[in-house]
Amino acid sequence: MFSINQEYLKLSEYYLFAEISKKVQEFQVKYPQSKIIRLGIGDVTLPLPKAVVGALHKAVDEMSDSTTFKGYGPEQGYEFLRKTIVENDYAARGIDISADEVFISDGAKSDLGNITDILDRSNRIALTDPVYPVYVDSNVMAGRAGDFKDNKWSNIIYLPCTEDNNFIPEFPKERPDVLYLCLPNNPTGTVWSADVLQKWVDYALDNKILILFDSAYEAYIQEENVPHSIYEMKGAKQTAIEFRSFSKTAGFTGLRCGYTIVPRELKAGGVSLNHLWNRRQSTKFNGTPYIVQRAAEAVYSPEGKEEVKKMIAYYMGNAKIISEGLNACGFKVFGGKNAPYIWLRTSDNMSSWEFFDYMMNTYNIVGTPGVGFGPSGEGYFRLTSFGSKENTIEAMNRLVV
Ligand SMILES: *Cc1c(COP(=O)(O)O)cnc(C)c1O
Repeated sequence: MFSINQEYLKLSEYYLFAEISKKVQEFQVKYPQSKIIRLGIGDVTLPLPKAVVGALHKAVDEMSDSTTFKGYGPEQGYEFLRKTIVENDYAARGIDISADEVFISDGAKSDLGNITDILDRSNRIALTDPVYPVYVDSNVMAGRAGDFKDNKWSNIIYLPCTEDNNFIPEFPKERPDVLYLCLPNNPTGTVWSADVLQKWVDYALDNKILILFDSAYEAYIQEENVPHSIYEMKGAKQTAIEFRSFSKTAGFTGLRCGYTIVPRELKAGGVSLNHLWNRRQSTKFNGTPYIVQRAAEAVYSPEGKEEVKKMIAYYMGNAKIISEGLNACGFKVFGGKNAPYIWLRTSDNMSSWEFFDYMMNTYNIVGTPGVGFGPSGEGYFRLTSFGSKENTIEAMNRLVV
């Protein structure tokens, strides 16, 4: 008789974004005249850059000709893309990463979810709280999370990030084995300076902790002294894996491409994690589509870079409109400077969900309840800058009246 992975039964049936759409739908049925503005979306809205679309068309044509057709490609990704990434994202910042340390994938979520395949089940997981829910759920599935009580998993070490600690947690009392960091952060939009990140890298080196560094929003960093890659930190290659994505950078949420850096120096018990991840990917993954990798390569062309810069400037313009609008209304506002997310304290000590209802009912604005990202998100609310500029302005105007 077959049986299932029982760990899946522990996962909550309740799913944040499903709950939100249900509430929005019910509201719209009740008040069909109201014009709802959605500032809760975590998905980009601008179309792909022209340089990317051009590269896609060209690659499709190559696939239609027997002399240029491509079948199975390397599981790790094509050399042309791995080299382009090394040159533009690492060498250009003085970071020494080689092409065989880059693994191309269909996005960061897959790699973040799959990476623990190469880690023993006994590893203790720590994560900053609140954070992108994939880290927790993938470890629940792998049997590392323990039991769910009081909105927390018993085996997971939560590092609260709130306005009280300026979104920089203390080192945990218990020593974790694996630490997830997401910077710039989803959902708080906050970043750490190079000094702070170096301290965490040193802590990881001292305690033999593996850092899983998610920098999906790296392209949104505007301020100086904010690291773009964890490998800007001394010693990081011996302790960290970095995850990147073209999704939020270049509008690839539907096209799908990301990459993961597993340095060769990164070892556990003398075994190279680069070797293990290569083995894992070669067995369970057959590569990102050729046409998509050509599209990703075009992100680094001069035209592609120019277009990406404009897209990010558009979203960051919205972030500024939201931050200023909320500030003018007396809200406590965080993030929005180096990330497309604005994190705000709810008013009148409302819970995250009470505030969600209040914003929808009073202003017809939809955001995301902070508690959906972890226990320390309670009492906060997330707005995103991925809407249109017109809607973003209108939403802020509604708040003022
Ligand atoms: C959107 C997002 C990702 C990844 O996305 P893919 O589309 O799978 O590349 C990864 N991490 C965070 C924090 C995100 O918000």
